[in-house]
Amino acid sequence: MMPCVDAQSRQPTTEATALPSILDVPKDRIGELMHELGEPSFRGRQLWGALYRSLATSFDDMTDLAKSLRGKLDQQFRIACATPSIETRSADRSTDKTLFRLDDGELIETVLMRYDADGHRKRRKTVCISTQAGCALGCTFCATGQQGFRRQLSVGEIVDQVLYMERVARAEDQREIEQGERSRGDLQGVTNVVFMGMGEPLANYDNTMAAVRVLNDDQGLHIGARHITISTVGLPDQIERLGHEPVQINLAVSLHAPDNATRSETMPINARYPIERVIEACRAYIARTNRKVFFEYVLLRGQNDSAAHAARLGKRLRGLLCHVNLIPVNPTSDGPFGRPSREAAKAFQDGLAGYGVPSTVRVEKGIDINAGCGQLRARALRQSA
Ligand code: SF4
Repeated sequence: MMPCVDAQSRQPTTEATALPSILDVPKDRIGELMHELGEPSFRGRQLWGALYRSLATSFDDMTDLAKSLRGKLDQQFRIACATPSIETRSADRSTDKTLFRLDDGELIETVLMRYDADGHRKRRKTVCISTQAGCALGCTFCATGQQGFRRQLSVGEIVDQVLYMERVARAEDQREIEQGERSRGDLQGVTNVVFMGMGEPLANYDNTMAAVRVLNDDQGLHIGARHITISTVGLPDQIERLGHEPVQINLAVSLHAPDNATRSETMPINARYPIERVIEACRAYIARTNRKVFFEYVLLRGQNDSAAHAARLGKRLRGLLCHVNLIPVNPTSDGPFGRPSREAAKAFQDGLAGYGVPSTVRVEKGIDINAGCGQLRARALRQSA
């Protein structure tokens, strides 16, 4: 683990934290805001571009805007609403994990993962973001689930995690160009965003979808909808609602077991929404969108990783437009479950293939920096206790 040295220097002033964040102002309100400030509406577009394209960190940096307007904005708003508190980088430098402190002292985690080109897949940088402080759903293999629910994140608090990592990614791109390691046309910044950090995104539905629209906006970060994935524990009504959204994002559903008895042992939500209801909602989603559903399956040694489990999962998913991501549990997890061997994971995958269900064993990232959800926050809380 390698704590970054400059986290402290990015602390906002106390005075600044008293103001609302401009990142919580929706795009359609920015025009009205300009009107209220006596400015022409095109200033709103400039402000939006400065925030989400140029990644300005202060109003003073927005030199396209008149000084008087910058002054007015500065009196009413701040920009950043998440302050980096601990930053770590994995030994192989592929993964950064940042613990952010919010205004009310809540802590959330964000992860940046760098992937080299692999077969037909281009090199990419994926940010995993949080949508809630804590989580109410209590999955037993998840450190966040063991810490309980604190509150929903605002749109600005969700988006600010990506803005922060986008600055990190762009600075690296720039460095690599200067060192001749890549060409200018190869600039990429953050390429993918996964809503898989702390919390259940679909239990914060409106703010999650508003954040998706900001990330996808073609006058801002412009992260392609197909490069955005929402991961849910499987809230059926919200999955069906998601199927009606016009934006073509990916859906990942955490199954983690092939049957109700096994699933209920690690996921209390299964008592409310049994696996049949979750799959029924996924079928409705697929029928509506014609898009593949990704099923997440954390492999827990001795709990859900046997050949019989694989066969039951294969039978359940047979014929569905889906892909299963098999994730051997993080060995640094505080939970009671061990990590299955590589061979066991491969055998599970072969078991699914026998039913025509495609799957991938997920590439491991950031194990040495506790990249599993909620583990860095748990460590920070332990240290401050
Ligand atoms: S795995 Fe996700 S849904 Fe389950 S407790 Fe953790 S954050 Fe919540």
